[in-house]
Amino acid sequence: MKAIVNGRVVLENATVTGQAVLFDEKIVGIVPENEVRDCEIIDAQGKYVLPGLVDMHIHGYLGEDASDGKAAGIRTMARGIAKNGVTSWLPTTMTVSYAELEKAFKAIRTVKKESEKDNFDGAQIMGINAEGPFINPSKKGAQAGEHIRPCDPEFIAKYADIIKVFTVAPEMKGNLAALRRIHKEFPKLLISMGHTSATFEQAQKGVRAGVRHVTHLFNAMTPLMHRDPGVVGCALGDSRLSTELIADTFHVNRNLFKIVSELKGDKLVLITDCTRAGGMPDGEYSLGGQPIFVKGIECRLADGTIAGSVLKLNEAVRNMHLNVKRLPIHKVVKMASLNPARALGIDGVKGSIKPGKDADFCFADDDFNISRTILRGRTIYSGEDK
Ligand SMILES: [Zn+2]
Repeated sequence: MKAIVNGRVVLENATVTGQAVLFDEKIVGIVPENEVRDCEIIDAQGKYVLPGLVDMHIHGYLGEDASDGKAAGIRTMARGIAKNGVTSWLPTTMTVSYAELEKAFKAIRTVKKESEKDNFDGAQIMGINAEGPFINPSKKGAQAGEHIRPCDPEFIAKYADIIKVFTVAPEMKGNLAALRRIHKEFPKLLISMGHTSATFEQAQKGVRAGVRHVTHLFNAMTPLMHRDPGVVGCALGDSRLSTELIADTFHVNRNLFKIVSELKGDKLVLITDCTRAGGMPDGEYSLGGQPIFVKGIECRLADGTIAGSVLKLNEAVRNMHLNVKRLPIHKVVKMASLNPARALGIDGVKGSIKPGKDADFCFADDDFNISRTILRGRTIYSGEDK
């Protein structure tokens, strides 16, 4: 058995010191440090010991993109994001052709299996997030308009073993009926509304049809107006809906972080929406077949449309921590661990430091720089190979 000592251990409802985390592949217990016997000791050197982070919406990293359909690219991403403290993730596809999606799904399925084995040195794939193609062309953002289609229950059924979440615009013709069918057949599949011009009432109808999640709140959806509350109004007010936020301070103004965190609480999920430009220098890249231009934290299409991000999930945690005063660390960390795990229905094994769950951890300093990442009890990243 192994024991992490000398850390500030971030549990679901508190941060504790003087406690050791015992684990093999699974977390065995949390005990006073002076009770530790016969364990391989891992010294956290006073750092935060966080649950492994969960990124449920990430397209690319280190020059690779989940929509490329290349297994090697998915492996590179898995290894890359492990350095940001991520232990579980959903490679996220864009609105591309069915042929490209099917190729991408196949590659992701291959690497998902590898990532469940003990010799894999990257973050574990928990399934796929299909962002589109069932969206509204008027809110396509950086998605390719020519590949948008009506929601397709047959297509979803074909890949229901691997798709964990997909995005849909509930107001598009036929989509509500399709959603009802999918929700009934696959109740565990998370249906997210996004890239949508739904009114508040249409969004509510979506929820009645099975929508339980909201794709990157505020971005590519109808805003909250006081006489027309839109999808944002529905997302903020309905406690059944978990809600993604790209907390890079560019997609959403930092002054909104506090109000969103207060309204959504444990239903708020930090995501990166990262593109292949993540972890790379400024310059020109591509997203869903379109060129994007990256400068600092901004990614845009040629016409200026915002196109994904270069955010890292540990940075999203830092941004939330810095911009929401007096929010306890364990609540901030939950937004990137337990909250997404719950939304995805994987919180029985992932998302928090609790006996019985997978031994997934990362060590972070006060600025949330990551120095070590552990997946199912094995170190998959340690600061030395930075
Ligand atoms: Zn996205």
